[in-house]
Amino acid sequence: MTPGKDSTYEVIVVGGGPAGLTAGLYTARARRQSLLIEKSLFGGQIVNAEHVENFPGFPDGISGAELGELLHQQATRFGLETLFAEVQGVELEGSRKLVRTDAGDFWARALIIAGGSSRVELGVPGEREFTGRGVSYCATCDAMFFRERPVAVIGGGDAAITEALHLARFASETTVVHRRDQLRASRILQERAFAEPAVSFLWDSVVEKIDGGDFVERLRLRNIRTGEPFTLDVTGVFISVGFRPDTGYLKGIVLLDDNGHVVTNEKMQTGVPGILAAGDIRHNSARQAITAAGDGATAAIYAEEYLTESAEQA
Ligand code: NAP
Repeated sequence: MTPGKDSTYEVIVVGGGPAGLTAGLYTARARRQSLLIEKSLFGGQIVNAEHVENFPGFPDGISGAELGELLHQQATRFGLETLFAEVQGVELEGSRKLVRTDAGDFWARALIIAGGSSRVELGVPGEREFTGRGVSYCATCDAMFFRERPVAVIGGGDAAITEALHLARFASETTVVHRRDQLRASRILQERAFAEPAVSFLWDSVVEKIDGGDFVERLRLRNIRTGEPFTLDVTGVFISVGFRPDTGYLKGIVLLDDNGHVVTNEKMQTGVPGILAAGDIRHNSARQAITAAGDGATAAIYAEEYLTESAEQA
């Protein structure tokens, strides 16, 4: 379905995380007819965070799910329309943008791309086979299934260490498996993890295979310094090795960097007039909920400038 251009939105925002919801809040509050398209859950990756303590305004911290809900409530209060759909393509026709989704097609004068990124898979044998049977990507969702059982977390970033600290409250033993001998995670999280007796570390180690019967039983690992293979008996494996931007549908439309992030200037503008990007999907994003929200506000402000200037020229 391709709706008539009479039904053109002034702004379409792709993505309902902190970047997209903030952009939508600003454009709707600026009285621009705005549609936000989200493919799964409002709040983005933050909804998986049990406790967010670095989003300003919440001195005692807040659960990620609650923060996502509050961002959504605030954005829709000003008339932002929302739609659950997956964006499959963007086409340009003059200055208009056609957004093709699995729930129909929509025209926009300005487009803000804030679709975030998806979890990276480890890509080892057993990973897909055991997903849901011991392999998980979300400790907040699944930790309770591993009460008094040994688990491993793969990765060394903020997300992996946050997962490990959460799991430590449930599992009998939580082992962080990291491919280097130093964590990437921030100092404060490192200090907490090193002080937590239920968390231990396997350095310079990579997973070669996830093994088991009906459920995960062990990891087959290799020490990359010595080349030595070894096994670790676990019933759960939490994979936390980063995120990749979802920008396949933007190839040939806007400039992407080598990793698929959208290249923008400091006004969040891409090279295409009226197409902006915000949040984790953007090249050089700081990848924090608060910086994503800031990007969203900036993108909305310059989308507004574009709408005003292009209307004056028409
Ligand atoms: P990240 O910072 O990119 O870390 C990914 C980790 O996975 C790195 O330690 C990396 O190892 C490891 N890794 C990547 N590919 C691997 C592979 N194939 N095999 C084994 N290990 C692999 O990603 P993240 O931890 O998901 O965090 C994403 C963003 O969200 C970050 O900006 C982070 O600060 C933010 N975040 C913040 C918080 C918080 O502040 N509480 C919580 C969660 C996330 P190397 O270190 O060797 O590259």
